Amino acid sequence: MDSNINQSKMPVYRDAGFSFNSLSDIEQIFAEEKNNPWQPKSFIYSRYRNPTVGFAEAKLAEIEQSQWSVLSASGMASIDMAISILTEAQMPSRILFFSEIYGGTISYMNYVLKRKRGIDFDIFYPEKEVYNLHALENLLKSGDYKILYFEAVSNPFLLVSDAIAIIKLAKKYQVKTIIDNTFATSFLWKPLADGADLVIHSVTKYLSGHGSITAGVLSGNNQELLHQAIEYRKWAGAVMNPDDAARLSEQLETFELRMLQHNLNAQKLANYLENHSKISKIIFPGLASHPSHELAKNLFQNKGFGAMLTFEIDGKNNDDKKLAVIKYLDKSKNSIPIIPTLGETHTIQLPIYAVWKDRSPSPSYIRLSVGIEPIEHIIDHLKNALS
Ligand code: PLP
Repeated sequence: MDSNINQSKMPVYRDAGFSFNSLSDIEQIFAEEKNNPWQPKSFIYSRYRNPTVGFAEAKLAEIEQSQWSVLSASGMASIDMAISILTEAQMPSRILFFSEIYGGTISYMNYVLKRKRGIDFDIFYPEKEVYNLHALENLLKSGDYKILYFEAVSNPFLLVSDAIAIIKLAKKYQVKTIIDNTFATSFLWKPLADGADLVIHSVTKYLSGHGSITAGVLSGNNQELLHQAIEYRKWAGAVMNPDDAARLSEQLETFELRMLQHNLNAQKLANYLENHSKISKIIFPGLASHPSHELAKNLFQNKGFGAMLTFEIDGKNNDDKKLAVIKYLDKSKNSIPIIPTLGETHTIQLPIYAVWKDRSPSPSYIRLSVGIEPIEHIIDHLKNALS
């Protein structure tokens, strides 16, 4: 009888270790694992490879259209994996980071890379909200850098990079590119198809999409880097657990559908807020007023502009703005929870100043992660909170 097991599902293998039959069995399986750690015939230990985690990784590779995708315990663990597999202690090299990136990545650079590992980096700043490609080329040409790291759409001020041109420049000077594509997502753009070396996502955000999993993924097309990624995960140990991986596999089935709705809702909300008298500034790449609107249109090929939106509540001065934001948060917190994450099905928000004082131009900037609720509900919540 043919098996009637549903191939689109995978059991949750909670096993920490897998069982062997004999001494020769152990020897053979360990030897095979050394040659082919990615697709072993038999499993050994879940920190090496777990079938349920592997099932989710295959789904992620399908979404990313990558040759491989390796899951880790968090987005930060994937960032660490990407940088670690491209750096060697015997060949010290500087890393060039774009300034507009997630604050946690900046802390990682300072604490882990510089302070703990002695790896140096430089930061490249935009001019008038756009990265100057001539200035970038001059830096890359210097031969000082081995890795270029940036976000396609930046957290929290949504600056869109001229990513395809940047990848081309990096290639010209043999600099490897790592792209954090958490905000844009692979729904809007797939960096590997445009020549990026590695792409990472905080799976905690849109890929899992329900705010119930902490995970990260690193994807690439180069087999040598895959072997390094597996080796690194095995020994650094930041693995994802199989229960979360099983839930992630289910959540990935609605990824495209969710992203479609996220993107549509964000555009409609941005159009509404753009004309609101209490909003002094709105930052959303889908608005013509955004400095990289045309760039985003090309990069995302009219599929949308993401679902993150940042706005400033109006006020005469900073004290006035602070008061306005306190009132706004108090009125909105029950309908739009204040949560320091993003990419959930529900609309959530974060007052930027409270978390990154030095990065916020004024105290009344709010980062909104637009959910997939009916758009009328989201607009109503904001209308009430801003009234
Ligand atoms: N990259 C971006 C753009 C993020 O916003 C975050 C977290 O907020 C991360 C990476 C880190 O991901 P995680 O929190 O899953 O470690």
